[in-house]
Amino acid sequence: MNVAEQLLSGILDTLSLQVAVIDEASSILYVNQAWRSFGLFYGLQLDTDWFGIAYLDICKANEDTNQPALLEGVQQVLSGARDHFSIDYLCHTPTQEPTWLTLNLQPMQSSLAEQGPCFLLTLTNITHHKQVEDRISALTLTDPLTGLANRRRLEQFMRDEWSRAIRHQSSLSVMMVDADHFKQLNDSMGHAAGDDCLRQVATILQGFSNRPGDLAARYGGEEFVLVLGQTTQAEAVKIAERIRQKIMALDIRFAGHRLMTVSIGIASLGAHHAQSTKEQPARTQWLNFSEDGNLLLEQADKALYVAKKQGRNRVEVYDKHHRLTVPLSV
Ligand code: GH3
Ligand code: MG
Ligand code: MG
Repeated sequence: MNVAEQLLSGILDTLSLQVAVIDEASSILYVNQAWRSFGLFYGLQLDTDWFGIAYLDICKANEDTNQPALLEGVQQVLSGARDHFSIDYLCHTPTQEPTWLTLNLQPMQSSLAEQGPCFLLTLTNITHHKQVEDRISALTLTDPLTGLANRRRLEQFMRDEWSRAIRHQSSLSVMMVDADHFKQLNDSMGHAAGDDCLRQVATILQGFSNRPGDLAARYGGEEFVLVLGQTTQAEAVKIAERIRQKIMALDIRFAGHRLMTVSIGIASLGAHHAQSTKEQPARTQWLNFSEDGNLLLEQADKALYVAKKQGRNRVEVYDKHHRLTVPLSV
């Protein structure tokens, strides 16, 4: 090696970026020190001879990198069908925490005479950036006071769950939970104590959100929403009653001796077993009460309004006369 080559090799070995040069058949011609070091996580030695190993074979052998998109992109660059390829992917090494890598592949200007075209392949560890990204995105979807999902997360979740329920013709219930006379509670106990009450209500609601299709969210102020996937209206009513009782059992008293309570409105989507009549035999119908998840929330809110009007501290269901029934096959 002449001085320039020694310097270049020293520079490449100092980089934290993993660098490899491959040929048209994806055979490895060169790897730098960072590449060798990453090999340690696969149980390989630092002095492993990488020369001649096909990079595409490594990708195929490793389940995590065996993504059709990755293989296709690499092959397209090697065949000249595209001039650059970049992809982020999660890599599971046998000895390390899962690592996020960005792969970049592009042809090199200079080729080795006996090898034909050469390609520069780099792998950058972006795990730290991904973790920061995940933390930021969790923060933008969480209510800071209670730690529950915020309204933005709720809206996303409702869209997904509503479509899932329609697709699988499964039940979906939502309940709107609003603290009664909360302004008065704040006035008599102070805003900080009010905040603490909201946290206690949130904890109770969180306790009823146990499955992947469930979500407890703070809708705003002293108003919460509990989404219950695969839950019929009758089941939701029972759960709402338990929530109402649990909140009373907190035994929070304000303004003299008034007990802190909640009112709950419920709206559901789900299968309905129609009674047989003279005209029609018994059959199952699909109750499509709402055109989208937002409407389901609006219906729960209407039921909540009725609960408030009926005297508070009670559970009400969206008026069944407003329901639209369509056959299950729709
Ligand atoms: P209703 O039974 O009809 O629901 O009466 P309410 O007093 O609960 O309803 P209203 O909408 O009149 O008042 C809601 C109160 O909730 C007013 C507001 O000060 C309080 N509130 C909203 N957000 C917070 C919060 O983050 N912390 C505290 N401590 N209070 C809040
Ligand atoms: Mg209220
Ligand atoms: Mg309210």
